[in-house]
Amino acid sequence: DTIGVHFDRTVARWGDRPGLIVRQQGIAWTWAELAERVDAFAAGLVAIGLKPGDRVGIWSPNNAEWVITQFATAKAGLILVNINPAYRISELEYALNKVGCKALVTATRFKTSDYIGMINTLAPELAISHPGDVHAARLPSLRAVIQIGGDDPGTFAFDKLAHHGREADRQRLKDLAPQLQFDDPINIQFTSGTTGLPKGATLTHHNILNNGWFIGEVLHYTEQDKVCIPVPMYHCFGMVIGVLACLTHGAAIVFPGEGFDPLATLQTVAEYRCTSLYGVPTMFIAELDHPDFATFDLASLRTGVMAGSPCPIEVMRRAIRDMHLTEMTICYGMTETSPVSTQTRIGDSLDKQVGTVGRPHPHVEIKIIDPDGRIVPRGEKGELCTRGYLVMQGYWEDTEKTAEAIDVAGWMHTGDLATMDADGYCAIVGRIKDMVIRGGENIYPREIEEFLYRHPAIQDVQTFGIPDERFGEELCAWIKLRPGETLTEEDVKAYCREQIAHYKVPRYVRFVDEFPMTVTGKMQKFIMRQKMIEELG
Ligand code: ATP
Ligand code: MG
Repeated sequence: DTIGVHFDRTVARWGDRPGLIVRQQGIAWTWAELAERVDAFAAGLVAIGLKPGDRVGIWSPNNAEWVITQFATAKAGLILVNINPAYRISELEYALNKVGCKALVTATRFKTSDYIGMINTLAPELAISHPGDVHAARLPSLRAVIQIGGDDPGTFAFDKLAHHGREADRQRLKDLAPQLQFDDPINIQFTSGTTGLPKGATLTHHNILNNGWFIGEVLHYTEQDKVCIPVPMYHCFGMVIGVLACLTHGAAIVFPGEGFDPLATLQTVAEYRCTSLYGVPTMFIAELDHPDFATFDLASLRTGVMAGSPCPIEVMRRAIRDMHLTEMTICYGMTETSPVSTQTRIGDSLDKQVGTVGRPHPHVEIKIIDPDGRIVPRGEKGELCTRGYLVMQGYWEDTEKTAEAIDVAGWMHTGDLATMDADGYCAIVGRIKDMVIRGGENIYPREIEEFLYRHPAIQDVQTFGIPDERFGEELCAWIKLRPGETLTEEDVKAYCREQIAHYKVPRYVRFVDEFPMTVTGKMQKFIMRQKMIEELG
């Protein structure tokens, strides 16, 4: 099915159940109330001349309009392009031009929202009164800006656009539905940019709708569930693992609001009695360590998803024990695979639940290979490759990069180092690019991080390699201490020397307040590496 067809089915079945809740905006709509807004906005998009296959960018933090836009573009056959809300002018320009966006949906009334000012700097001639008027030199394809929460001159107000759609536009929308195909591209999602410039993955209805369905199945979602989504919508974690898992099972989508705030997330779970909670590990750490944590009643929680980067065993244990998340799961995946390929299962033994990223989803093949492409024995490390319905069509208009990632037999080469045990459960060892080779010995940063993470004074730690003349590479550790704790570089090294092999002891140790991170909460080791190289000259 297409996402539009599936949306209508959910509304027919669960129309009077909670559909979308946004705490910060004071919104609580049923699926039917959401559907009215989706259909009106979709008609508005048709009314301003957008045609199936046209690209529509969205550059906004999480809000109700994001969800409306996601479903309305799907119904109108438009390709939604997720743009990172943290982007600034040059990055926005890069993203819009890279995929030739005809329209941009953006926000004004939010914290991160000097957006329109930035657009005006980009293209002062963007003042449009009618679609088709824009000929901004630097944004040649852009024809319309749709503003959430405002209507500066030259833009369409999000709310008013819905009234643009006349009966004829609604009819055009209806006529369009049967022409849309399940394998049409529906989304260009940018990767997180953890290792460099983000790449735009082209995904179809079939890719992401099915992935959302299987995630909801694994989590045993029903229309009784309420899923708290503090992760960004611009990323597949929000829009697929979050919104599409809810859509396919009639569960309620619950946003605390824009940006991530541990307090607002805890308040949202408690006030709306959420049953499921999502986050990258750093978000769970911030919630568990919040000074008011113990004051919230989280007893409604049952399940959730931790994903996106290595999930420390201790953090999983605390989430299960202190947040009532007895049915908590870990997912592994990537934007290019819609995203989830493996997940732990409800009922797994505790060591599988906290120590692996689960086993393959239905209809997904996984293999672990050595550098020559041979499958390695169970338990041995190699590159994880994925095949199945979930693999993207390719990187948008980049056949070369696509061919590097997806081989002729259809396998997506993930660049992640992993192992698979006798039961098919996988563990992620780290990224191949991040593996450190010091004097011929392989060091897996994840292993050293797990080890240091157990030190009582250490709150968070990242390790990475930098070039070294003598050993090829040397290991660095960046450490964030718990409040009130002190440690010296020598303390850390002495602690390591007692318990791990000498070659794994970090050569350089630095104490930091924060780590360079993507908006999705992922650690950007390439930036840490650059900084260390600069420091050491
Ligand atoms: P970029 O490709 O732009 O450098 P990225 O790879 O972080 O960024 P995403 O597609 O958002 O972009 O993330 C996918 C990657 O995240 C995976 O390839 C893997 O390295 C990591 N990852 C995802 N889930 C897990 C997990 N549960 N455990 C460990 N790593 C994970
Ligand atoms: Mg990647």
